[in-house]
Amino acid sequence: MIKRQRRFFLRYNYGMDEKNRIIELRKLLKQYSYEYYTLDKPTIPDSEYDQLFRELENLEAKYPEMDDPNSPTKRVGYEILSEFTKITHDRPMLSLGDVFSYDELRQWSKKITDIYPNVEYCVEYKIDGLAMSLIYEDGLLKQAVTRGDGIVGEDVTSNVKTIISVPMSIPYKQRYDIRGEVYMPKTSFNRVNRERIANGEEEFANPRNAAAGSIRQLDSRICASRGLDGFWYHVPDDVNSDTHYGSLMYAKKLGFIVNETTALYNDIEDVIKHIDEVVAIRHDLPYEIDGMVIKVNNYELQRQIGFTSRIPKWAIAYKFPAEEVRTKVEDIFITVGRTGKCTPNAKLTPVRIAGTTVGYATLHNEDNIRDKDIRIGDTVIVRKAGDIIPEVVRSIKENRDGSQVKFDFPSVCPVCGGRLYRFEGEAAHFCINSECKARLVYSIAHFCERNAMDIDGLGENKVEAFINVGLINSFEDIYKLHNHREEILNIEKFGAKSFDNLIEAIENSKKNSLERLINGLGIKQVGEKASKILAAHFMNMDNFMNASTEELSEINDIGPVTAKYIREFFLEPSNMEMINQLKIFGLNMDYINTRSDSGSPFENKTVVLTGTMEKYSRNEASKMLEDLGAKVASSVSKKTDYVIYGVDAGSKLTKANELGVKTINEEEFLQMLNQ
Ligand code: NAD
Repeated sequence: MIKRQRRFFLRYNYGMDEKNRIIELRKLLKQYSYEYYTLDKPTIPDSEYDQLFRELENLEAKYPEMDDPNSPTKRVGYEILSEFTKITHDRPMLSLGDVFSYDELRQWSKKITDIYPNVEYCVEYKIDGLAMSLIYEDGLLKQAVTRGDGIVGEDVTSNVKTIISVPMSIPYKQRYDIRGEVYMPKTSFNRVNRERIANGEEEFANPRNAAAGSIRQLDSRICASRGLDGFWYHVPDDVNSDTHYGSLMYAKKLGFIVNETTALYNDIEDVIKHIDEVVAIRHDLPYEIDGMVIKVNNYELQRQIGFTSRIPKWAIAYKFPAEEVRTKVEDIFITVGRTGKCTPNAKLTPVRIAGTTVGYATLHNEDNIRDKDIRIGDTVIVRKAGDIIPEVVRSIKENRDGSQVKFDFPSVCPVCGGRLYRFEGEAAHFCINSECKARLVYSIAHFCERNAMDIDGLGENKVEAFINVGLINSFEDIYKLHNHREEILNIEKFGAKSFDNLIEAIENSKKNSLERLINGLGIKQVGEKASKILAAHFMNMDNFMNASTEELSEINDIGPVTAKYIREFFLEPSNMEMINQLKIFGLNMDYINTRSDSGSPFENKTVVLTGTMEKYSRNEASKMLEDLGAKVASSVSKKTDYVIYGVDAGSKLTKANELGVKTINEEEFLQMLNQ
């Protein structure tokens, strides 16, 4: 008896909990909708809203006695609270039902095809903007009205008139109501947010909120500056066609922008294939889409299938998997990349995004953290779009409780303790200590590269293995490897022959001309070409090390920024010490001019290459010419000595002829090489 009573109690309590949950969910969704529609400032990601909405729908289906026409599941948008004039729509502007998987999409389609077997679907991009109705009378744009609560919208005509692609007049005299989406293209969104940061204003959360915020500006000049655009996709009660697609084509003729990607299919499986293709390219589009809309094409069928109070039953939105979710920043830490670049990252409370668990996200750089005011302990929105590394999009300040801590960007490298540098015009900080462990593998492998010290056998993997067993910690250690034969032979896949070859390559590298060593040092912006120029200019390492920034920047092709990087490099005491050690190990520190006696016709000549040669690639030809003392330039001017051309040579050859510069074809070039 006691047992039965208890079971009853539990069931009863469970039901009460669920009914309370219905009330709670309605309250929550109302609050989120207010923040989203009225304030244009959502505090949770759409995916979370959609989940709560689904939960409410399911509970309401379970407890029909809790039915309420005011429930968010029965209503569209949000009650209008703005100062704009309210306008009642000719016909309600509804929302769309949504599905989140192909199986759900198939189920939706089956429900229709079970009754109407021959259905044609019109498939469109679901543009992430805000719905708008345009009313034309006597061929002139009379009103532009937001969706509002679906029944009553806001008159935003003066703002919509600032959208260049919206026709002010159309060749059609009847009253014409066309609906579509006003959106903010990605380029406008990025620009507007950059401007807002510069003005100390809060960034827009996403292009949808940015578009909605812009359309609701009381001063239409502000709206005009936001670069909005529109796609038009629905003509209610159109008398000009029997199908939705036909109406769109008619609207296009009238001058409306209809999305060119709109497509017709008879089979839901073909619709799914099409969606798959769009998923693959969606991030390359110039505007955001958050799904696809599938509509029954035939108007007569649409009428038979009908509507609910909130959605048409003849259409459905397939929503793409969520790319934005909410989580917490547990910590902020710096990682040092291979080039010494220091990137701040957020350690997150792990969260699922688009099918993967995400525990870390990039914060890009110091300015980004400051501009977005992201603090340790903040609730944040994290985004993982396509293949991009997850990033923290914004913090939700409303969720702060005072325990959040601001992050101070460190002034020293978290790995080696060396000073961090932020160079002019750069957003990132760099650790320039070449011995910093974090950079070690990369910088040593680069030192050994063919274009640098040319030590065959010391690629990234080998370098890493040597570092792991403590044999290499610096460039200098390379020149001590001959003392470690036994240890090296113990390393997996390293035989005696490989060891001997390696030691020989290391010995040979000591004789290299200075430019190879300069390139190997890995100074920022000093690659192969700059190294050659610098070596030829300074002739030896001491001159180069001691050159002032002014002296360096006066060299043709070097420039002030590179000059500064070079100077910073030699101001680091550990780098100076490293050079001294290399000298002690017997490395050549002089420029060896191999071409002064070459007698080559290209000696000291400025040469431009154009077109495709049969025998050599552009890079190979450049290298040969440089070895013969030529300066290879990228554009033709009066100072150019020769333009060497292959097939399909274009404007450079024409310009050379115009300027009277000597031109050389591939055959002549080969003959000159043999001189
Ligand atoms: P919706 O955005 O899911 O779909 C309906 C809308 O899609 C239409 O009104 C129209 O504006 C748009 N649309 C774009 N392209 C279209 C096309 N080709 N054909 C037809 N319509 C097209 O629904 P909604 O009612 O506008 O908004 C509800 C959604 O808004 C929720 O699912 C949620 O994602 C989001 N929301 C988020 C929050 C939040 O706090 N994050 C709050 C409220 C709503």
